[in-house]
Amino acid sequence: MTSSFYPPQRTLMGPGPSDVSSRVLGALARPTIGHLDPVFLTLMDEIKELLQFAFQTNNALTLPVSAPGSAGMEACFVNLVSPGDKVIVCQNGVFGGRMKENVERCGGIAVMVEDAWGEPVSIEKVAAAFDEHPDTAILAFVHAETSTGVQSDAKALCALAASRGVLTIVDAVTSLGGIEVAVDEWGVDAMYSGTQKCLSCVPGISPVTFGERAVERIKARTHRVQSWFLDMQLVMGYWGGDSKRAYHHTAPINNLYALHESLVMLQEEGLAAAHARHRHNHLALVAGLEAMGLGMAVAPEYRLPQLNSVLIPEGVDDAALRAALLNEFDLEIGAGLGTLAGKTWRIGLMGFGSNERNVLYCLNALEAVLLRQGAGITSGKALPAAHAVFGKQ
Ligand SMILES: *Cc1c(COP(=O)(O)O)cnc(C)c1O
Repeated sequence: MTSSFYPPQRTLMGPGPSDVSSRVLGALARPTIGHLDPVFLTLMDEIKELLQFAFQTNNALTLPVSAPGSAGMEACFVNLVSPGDKVIVCQNGVFGGRMKENVERCGGIAVMVEDAWGEPVSIEKVAAAFDEHPDTAILAFVHAETSTGVQSDAKALCALAASRGVLTIVDAVTSLGGIEVAVDEWGVDAMYSGTQKCLSCVPGISPVTFGERAVERIKARTHRVQSWFLDMQLVMGYWGGDSKRAYHHTAPINNLYALHESLVMLQEEGLAAAHARHRHNHLALVAGLEAMGLGMAVAPEYRLPQLNSVLIPEGVDDAALRAALLNEFDLEIGAGLGTLAGKTWRIGLMGFGSNERNVLYCLNALEAVLLRQGAGITSGKALPAAHAVFGKQ
């Protein structure tokens, strides 16, 4: 007979999922109720308001898509891109490539603006692409590129798109909760995120928000949205503001309890305080890594505090090191991807996992395994350097 499954107690410091707090895990275990129960409808309304707070928006069409971040991405593209639409897609890592896939599967024409992995999206290149393609309908880009640890200037890119009368689709899967996201102030038209990065909730839900211009575009569609499940006109019938909510699909009830709890925690802490915490822990981690003699892969001004790309020193066995961290320290960090595969590690300090304990634990474990592999690092300096940032010399 197969017995119950008990996972090991890991410390998750990769690119997501991040550590989930006991408060959120506790919320998951509350009794399941019906998805049309009046009490559940109250919960839905509260989640909507909490998401509006997290996204900093008054957009009425703000809701959690019942599937992971990739489904939020797809929801934005299938609803906004019609066959023949030209979409400028910025690519400086893995996720821009997925946007291109989405545009093409919607019958759109993807115009790629490419930047090196580890660099932000170039505003100048996007402006040049607009000049070359004045018939562009949408600009799509990733705010926080999790594959490289780079932050792009979402505010400037949205302002540029607005000046050309072009809608924006912005990937905020890794940014939401970790760095500033201001949908209304920046004039974002459509944005999607995920629950398992800086919101530190379990994976499987994707918060999305659509502004007025995007809603108009959806209503004016002449081609039916190719996805039945992600068609916002249908989803709105269930998540819409009015009282007559119609069955569309069975919402992941308990996952939504968890999302609600994680958003309540974000509200209790406050957005500015959450961002400051991410930044502080990032600075301590970097101080420790640099004191050890390791280098960061991204220039300081573009670094994401929640995703730290570290250069792997010469002669170190990448896979063996990550396996040792996992097996001996129950610590997960991420491998490099694409052009950075084998060259970088990705250390996440996301949401609940962005804390002093994780910074110190990771530095300690990394130093121990690197020394054992004979890497030429400086021993004994990392923890004091991190402690100094934490004000605990
Ligand atoms: C993780 C991630 C996604 C995909 O989210 P899933 O929940 O894994 O489907 C999309 N974009 C970015 C930037 C991400 O980091």
